[in-house]
Order: sequence, then C-alpha cells, then structure tokens
Amino acid sequence: MSDISACSRLTDRVAVVTGGASGIGLAAARRLAAEGAHVVIGDICDPETGEAAASEVGGLFVRTDVTDADQVSAMYATAHERYGSIDIAFHNAGINPPADSSILDTDPETWRRVQDTNLTSVYLCCQKALPYMLEQGRGSIINVASFVALMGAATSQISYSASKGGVLALSRELGVQFGRTGVRVNALCPGPVNTPLLQELFAADPEQAQRRLVHVPLGRFAEPEEIAAAVAFLASDDSSFMTANEFVIDGGISSAYVTPLE
Ligand code: NAD
Repeated sequence: MSDISACSRLTDRVAVVTGGASGIGLAAARRLAAEGAHVVIGDICDPETGEAAASEVGGLFVRTDVTDADQVSAMYATAHERYGSIDIAFHNAGINPPADSSILDTDPETWRRVQDTNLTSVYLCCQKALPYMLEQGRGSIINVASFVALMGAATSQISYSASKGGVLALSRELGVQFGRTGVRVNALCPGPVNTPLLQELFAADPEQAQRRLVHVPLGRFAEPEEIAAAVAFLASDDSSFMTANEFVIDGGISSAYVTPLE
C-alpha cells in the first residue's frame, strides 16, 4: 500500500464525502484528511457511527439522506458555513440490495430505490455542490460508478448496473459542460472492493465470490484504501488535466480474457 505520510496535496481543502461512514467512503475520508483536507461526512447511518467516523478524521458529520434534495442542500450549506469553501465532492453513497437481481425478478420498488440512492443522489449532490465551486472557480467532483457500468454480468443486478451507467453519462456531460470553469468532474469505476457492501453480498454464498475472482488478473478484490488513493489523486491538482473521465481501478478485469491459473 502507498506511503501516504509523504503526501499533503490537499492542505486546507474542503472535502464532502457521501457515504463516508463505511467502506470506500470511510477509507477516502481518512486518506483525504491525511493529505490535509477538512472532511465533511454526509451519511444516512446512525449518528454514533457517523460521529465516530468524523471524529477519527477530525472532521464534521452531517446526517444526510442523499436522495433528499433539502438534506443534500443542507449538507453543502453546513460544510461551506463551517470551512468556507467546497473544493472536493466525493459522491460515493450507494446500495446494492439482494432484491435487485435479474430483470425478470426485480420489482419496481427495488428498481426505484436503487436508482434514487445510486443515481438521483449523484444528480442532486452535483446540482447542490456546483454553485459553490463555480463561484470559487475551482473544484473537483468525483462520482462513484462501477466497472459494471462498462461490462455485462450474467449474475445481473439490473437496477444497480443501470444506475452506474447513468452516473458515467452524467459525469461525462458535466465534465464537458463545465470544462472551462475550473471545475473538473470525473467518474470512478472500481472493480470489486472488499467492503461491507460486497461482504454482505457474498457472506451467504462464498462460491459467488469465487465465480467473480476467477476474472480478476490480480487474483483478489481491491482494498478500500486502494480506491481511496485514486480518490485523492482525482481530488488533487495532480489530476489537473483530467475531466469527463471514467477512471477504472479494477485489478485488470475489464481488460482480461484469460487470467492466470496461479
Ligand atoms: P458500504 O455499504 O460499505 O458503504 C456505503 C455507505 O453509503 C454506508 O455508510 C451507507 O450508510 C451510505 N448510504 C447508503 N444509502 C445512503 C443514503 N441514502 N444517504 C446517505 N448515505 C447512504 O459500500 P461501499 O462498498 O463502500 O460502496 C461505496 C460506493 O462504491 C457505492 O456507490 C458502490 O456502489 C460503489 N462500488 C462498490 C464496489 C464494491 O465492490 N464494494 C465496487 C464498485 C463500486
């Protein structure tokens, strides 16, 4: 894993991290804080969990349901009021419920819940973050999509995949539209990551994990810290010429045909 003690690319920048109380979001909150950012965690989790995550990174917890426009507005207003700017918006909150499966079985309520949490939330968060960034003339928005936005799976989660495809298209469009304003917008496409979201999915059936691992050239799932390192890169000026991009961190899955046996 990388040595983060050497990096301080984000000194005094203000970062809002949705879904920052767990998994990739928590790892990103830690990494952004370690590089000098003030971190605001917006999450729907119970207040104790959120407060614990925020206090660990020396930041602020704002209990937020990212599917609710007023709560998203309040999250950005609180962050701006406390720290004076919005420099980094990491829109990461998402769900992957077991009831979302084949198109033949997924009920409309589940379809809509996944779309609301994974895609509509990104629309709302970008809509509320952008005015602050445009006013400042700088900012980096990073929206979490997934490698399933780029590849098909026979083990379908139809609403999830469609929602992540939407995140890619939305992010590309915003990156292009606001290309000359100082605001960059990129999508992140992680491969399978070892987080509660994935662990829950495979806990009942370890064979399901094995069925996926065979496609990964690196032979393992990612650790959240490996995704967080990419978030810090996209957040920092090191990625100053990147916008409207689909940044893939998938252990080689999307490039692989035959993978090594050992
Ligand atoms: P996780 O379940 O560990 O964490 C998700 C966080 O989002 C939780 O803290 C949860 O409380 C929060 N959240 C859920 N609904 C919310 C809502 N309505 N409002 C605010 N917060 C909400 O998940 P993770 O694995 O860290 O996934 C994070 C993101 O990465 C998701 O968008 C997921 O789709 C994406 N992703 C994950 C993987 C993977 O393999 N884990 C792969 C590709 C993409």
